Amino acid sequence: MDLGKRIDFHTHTLLSDGALIPSELIRQAEMIGYKAIGITDHVDASNLEETIDKMLRLLSKQQFPIMVIPGVELSYVHPDNIPALAKEARKLGAKLIIVHGETTAFDEPVYPGTNRVAASLKGYVDIIAHPGAITREEAAEAARNGIYLELSAKKAHGENNPHIVKIARETGAKLLVNTDAHNAEQLLDQQGAYTLALNTGLNETEARQAIIENTEALLKRLGFGK
Ligand SMILES: [Zn+2]
Ligand SMILES: [Zn+2]
Repeated sequence: MDLGKRIDFHTHTLLSDGALIPSELIRQAEMIGYKAIGITDHVDASNLEETIDKMLRLLSKQQFPIMVIPGVELSYVHPDNIPALAKEARKLGAKLIIVHGETTAFDEPVYPGTNRVAASLKGYVDIIAHPGAITREEAAEAARNGIYLELSAKKAHGENNPHIVKIARETGAKLLVNTDAHNAEQLLDQQGAYTLALNTGLNETEARQAIIENTEALLKRLGFGK
């Protein structure tokens, strides 16, 4: 079965709390068969501009054999401030905007209301990361607004995946499998992403949709599709 090539929209580098500079993470991803990688370091108002600037500078001076999508992950921003920062990120040139969603992981006290606000920002938010606490209403709104929900490969968020699958089925929200990798070991090849998708409870068709059709569609919408 041809699973195609890996597209992962959620990773971290030294620009926030990841272990590697972007060039190494990108090269490591290429070596395990990625065709595209989103670099989405944690940002708030303190580092939004410099993080986007650094990614754009990297991409203007270096070439890479795989597609590199300059993005951000708005993290621990009060829900009232998310709309303005998401719009600013777009304006500054971020091609991919993720919101660090409300997970039920006990040590990640994301503000209540984060998933709801993120789901409403059509055109400004692309993915709600690890949205473990998401409700049916919020997922339905995300679906209407073309905002994807993430199935996370990160252990802390993994136990939320079956809930996210259930809500997505009920609402038509679209799913992606992202690694949220903070180092090279946490990257997943396409077979690994497929296995993870099946382990969340998706059937084979749904799993293929999450790791192939949905990723290709978003890649194209972000202006990287070929
Ligand atoms: Zn992180
Ligand atoms: Zn992350």
